[in-house]
Amino acid sequence: MTTAQKLSFDVQLSDHARTAAEREQVLASPGFGQVFTDHMISIDYTEGQGWHDAKLVPYGPLSLDPATSVFHYAQELFEGLKAYRQENGSIVTFRPEANAARFNTSAARMAMPELPEETFVESLELLVQTDREWVPTTPGHSLYLRPFMIATQPALGVNYPSRTYKYMVIASPAAAYFGGGKAVTVWLSTEYTRAAPGGTGFAKCGGNYAAAFVAQRQAVEQGCDQVVWLDAGEHRYVEEMGGMNLFFVYGDRLLTPALTGTLLPGITRDSILSFASDLGLHTEEGRLSVEEWQRGCETGELTEVFACGTAAVVTPVGSVKGADRAWTIGDGTQGPVTSKIREELVGIQYGSRPDPHSWVHKI
Ligand code: PMP
Repeated sequence: MTTAQKLSFDVQLSDHARTAAEREQVLASPGFGQVFTDHMISIDYTEGQGWHDAKLVPYGPLSLDPATSVFHYAQELFEGLKAYRQENGSIVTFRPEANAARFNTSAARMAMPELPEETFVESLELLVQTDREWVPTTPGHSLYLRPFMIATQPALGVNYPSRTYKYMVIASPAAAYFGGGKAVTVWLSTEYTRAAPGGTGFAKCGGNYAAAFVAQRQAVEQGCDQVVWLDAGEHRYVEEMGGMNLFFVYGDRLLTPALTGTLLPGITRDSILSFASDLGLHTEEGRLSVEEWQRGCETGELTEVFACGTAAVVTPVGSVKGADRAWTIGDGTQGPVTSKIREELVGIQYGSRPDPHSWVHKI
């Protein structure tokens, strides 16, 4: 249920914000999601009352009753997007309305209240404006924004969803998730399943990620960087990766798994599907089996594979390993189509290329 009232934010600035020197030290080597900016957003929801108490406050811990339902039943969802410092100095986010829409799709699946899209976007603007000095100037770096919502009712009954919620946004300076351009090795997970029809695969809820860690750990034990998830029925068709969607390159044709409800509809995926034709590439959303993937690489028809997502940007996949097979894609390094796609996307985000779809949202 979307509430129509316009919220105004109470702004409480921190009296212990980091100094410029402390901030610069973090920005020199930000890693990913380790250090957070000086402020955060909080908005509460109460059934019957709607959204209220919108505020920007100093970043800090929460105090919650141990019975709070998110701790027990994981009624939680989140989003991820970035603020970029463009070449002309302006600060922008990329398609924040798309994140707002996906946030509400996830909310509907998790029986949680929807947040008006304009409130979602406004909350990001307020946090980024306040902490704008935290948006890195280093090329390729950005400020990662993490909106999320938790169920806050302190009650253990499972007969009804929580009647209270908290929406928050925190922000963290980020370097490249994978060292720029280096191809990743992926592990085909046949022991575990990420999502099944009717489940929560299309929603960005924490539970999907909690259930994935065991497979990600297995991938690392196998010497791989990331898990590739396969369909729940036959463990045969490719779905997506842990935090990225996949594209398969056949010369000038791009194939990506169709959105069947079991994979996350990535905003980077959607952007690539939208601009690929501007680069002379054809696109197709369909189904690809592990056998077709391996055979395509052996015949040379399948020339490149790349993963894409907000954190990973566009990352080449160099080789594949499974319980009973292993193979290399092309020569195992970043190919020309992957480079072209990456340059176009990054060019729009950082302002060195035109933005014909008006995706960039100035703060
Ligand atoms: N799949 C999963 C499971 C993810 O967590 C993400 C990251 N949000 C993606 C795909 C890519 O989505 P996006 O391009 O919107 O970041």
